[in-house]
Amino acid sequence: MLLATDLDGTFLGGTQETRQQLYQLIAVHPDIDLIFVTGRGLESVMPLLSDPMIPQPSYIICDVGCTVVDGETLQPVVEVQGRIDDVWPGEYAIQAAVEHIPGLVRQDVPQERRCSYFSAPDVIEEYLDELTRIGNSLNCDVLYSAGLYLDFLPRNINKGSTLTALVEHLKIPREDVMVAGDTLNDLSMYEHDFIGVCVGESEEGLLEATEGRARVYHAGAAGAGGILEAISHFGFLGAEGIDAEGRDDIEPGPSDLVIVYHRLPYEEYLEDGLMKRRNHTSPNGIIPTLASFFKDGKKGAWVAWSIKDESLKEFETHTEVDKEKYPNLVAARVALTKEEVDIFYKRFSKEAFWPTLHTFWERATFNEEHWQVFCDVNRKFAEQTAKEASEGATVWLHDYNLWMVPAYLRELRPDVNIAFFHHTYFPSADVFNVLPWRKEIVGSLLQCDYIGFHIPRQSENFIDVAKGVMPFDVVEKTGCAPRFLTYGCAVGLDEMTTEIKINDRIIRLGAHPVGLDLNRVDAALEKPEIQARMEELRDELHGVKLVLSVERLDYTKGIPAKLEAFERLLEDHPELHGKVTLVTVCVPAAKGMKVYDDLQSEIEQSVGRINGRYAQVGWTPVQFFFRAVPFEQLVAYYAMADVMWITPLRDGLNLVAKEYVATQGKIQGKGVLVLSEFAGAAAEVKGAVLCNPHDPAEMAETCYFALSMHPDDASARMNEAYDVVSNYDIAHWGQEFLSEVADSAEKNGKRLSTLTSVA
Ligand code: UDP
Repeated sequence: MLLATDLDGTFLGGTQETRQQLYQLIAVHPDIDLIFVTGRGLESVMPLLSDPMIPQPSYIICDVGCTVVDGETLQPVVEVQGRIDDVWPGEYAIQAAVEHIPGLVRQDVPQERRCSYFSAPDVIEEYLDELTRIGNSLNCDVLYSAGLYLDFLPRNINKGSTLTALVEHLKIPREDVMVAGDTLNDLSMYEHDFIGVCVGESEEGLLEATEGRARVYHAGAAGAGGILEAISHFGFLGAEGIDAEGRDDIEPGPSDLVIVYHRLPYEEYLEDGLMKRRNHTSPNGIIPTLASFFKDGKKGAWVAWSIKDESLKEFETHTEVDKEKYPNLVAARVALTKEEVDIFYKRFSKEAFWPTLHTFWERATFNEEHWQVFCDVNRKFAEQTAKEASEGATVWLHDYNLWMVPAYLRELRPDVNIAFFHHTYFPSADVFNVLPWRKEIVGSLLQCDYIGFHIPRQSENFIDVAKGVMPFDVVEKTGCAPRFLTYGCAVGLDEMTTEIKINDRIIRLGAHPVGLDLNRVDAALEKPEIQARMEELRDELHGVKLVLSVERLDYTKGIPAKLEAFERLLEDHPELHGKVTLVTVCVPAAKGMKVYDDLQSEIEQSVGRINGRYAQVGWTPVQFFFRAVPFEQLVAYYAMADVMWITPLRDGLNLVAKEYVATQGKIQGKGVLVLSEFAGAAAEVKGAVLCNPHDPAEMAETCYFALSMHPDDASARMNEAYDVVSNYDIAHWGQEFLSEVADSAEKNGKRLSTLTSVA
């Protein structure tokens, strides 16, 4: 069957349950084709095309019949559109013709091949003859409705005439078409011998005009419910009607909290042909924190991918995580092939998303096939998650690798409470919109109940991107101070949007900078071998000041600019020669990517040049370590560094900066943190000396300022920073996030499982 339906009040009307039932039926049923027939202009239909819950139409007839486009390409169906265009005089001809009529105000809605105004009835009365004359001379129908709306349309074009032309063009038998509407504006669709339904709560005039017609059914249920009723009434889809191709419902699982993360909570390795597990050798603080929500026997699941090794006979979907600590936490493994992991995780993310998210969009490459793999993998994650989550469970998704999961998951499990935390930078709309799949991604994220970012700026950037995809109401805005910087840094913001409403759904947003597990710093500082390393470093430095820089090899980290600034510092301040050393720890990237190889050679050349120019016997200006240093060893460096120089061009947060503050705070050090104002941490960690990494002069100056800072000032700044870092630690991060999630679920009237007690 072909369902040709009006949108507002009809396809988009009715209860949430009936809408969902209709949309799912259309999505899974091979025999239903869909045409939207609407008064909206095409641009106002587009948001619906980004909504993953709404089935996509094969064709769209919009502007009350004046525009007809293919649903996928959005290009005109020329055979039908051409005939309409032939009679349309153009909006400027109409504007010129009505210019002398007072009180006509052009409606500010997207529209094409029609010209709509607001006008008071007395104006229409006074100028009726004139308007009729203009209509005749320009070959237009002039309509006036509801005592307000004045419309110029190409003559004899309406929803019904265009639908008929399209159906004839597509050679679809009329008896296979069912039209659906709810206002007089839809009447023309019922006048071409199609089967039709006026949904419940239709406008009286429409019901009167279609009363007694054998092929028109007046449904009891409103909106989508009325359409479902009519499908059964007319016997479309065979004897079983709307039950014909129902999707197999997924039974809720046992987990009240489901973490969906790209890494498993343990590391897997192959030994003697067996897959074994051990604790992560390089744990970041996040994994133990997320796992800690399953302490005290709390039930839950952790969904992550695992490579399905062909050499192993069976793939174990569920494994335990840590029987002692988390007896009721299971890992639910999504089986991926090595090729899928390579594309989804290693290549596509690094080639398309990473550069764009960090505003280096010129470096991004977009590959449609890889996007398909990304979507397939995300669907697998969603399916596994849907099986784990209990009724009303909270599902906590992590980062951009899982962007499309909300869309698939919402469809499978409308009851669950979906929360998403974005771990990377989120750029402004100008940059993000470069992504070819931005509408799908945003449509998916807007299926969440709660979305968290590190800092307000990133959240507001998302809001700006979303605004370009679909309309919504801003329900709540919240001031960012005093928790965050407002005008004090490049990524500061004074006010952020914390609640929006799309149709009848509430989505809440929040800023939650990831915190540290300070116990790890304590533990490192207490270790005799780390204390010994600190002594060793002290001896090696023998009075030379240490400027430290620690980061992964990545173009976002601004390493060449920092080296350039250091060279400038030595140039401007000869008195520093022999007195200061820059130690940079640079963690190599995965092998074989040209961008990283190029960057490495650029860095090595700079280091060589600076050392060649300035080194003296017993003093090397730049010491470059191109390897990962274990965390505990890093702590020894953090403790000894006079200045921590973190100058990324763009960074979601930057944990290294916080680790330095934590270490210095613990030892009551007088080190100074010099931080790029483009790192997320700059908006949060007060007391840092901020600098613009794009300005070499300022970079050199701020480094000098930090090196020569009075110890009392350094100490006061460090105390301020330590207050932030120690107060907002990783446990605070997790708990605050989950309690915000619980609030948002309540706002959406969701029946939550035991989440609040988990938090
Ligand atoms: N790190 C490490 N060894 C190194 C360099 C870094 O263990 O040689 C750790 C560091 O302690 C920090 C993380 O890697 O926890 C880097 O996180 P950050 O947020 O600073 O940067 P990202 O890599 O996420 O961009």
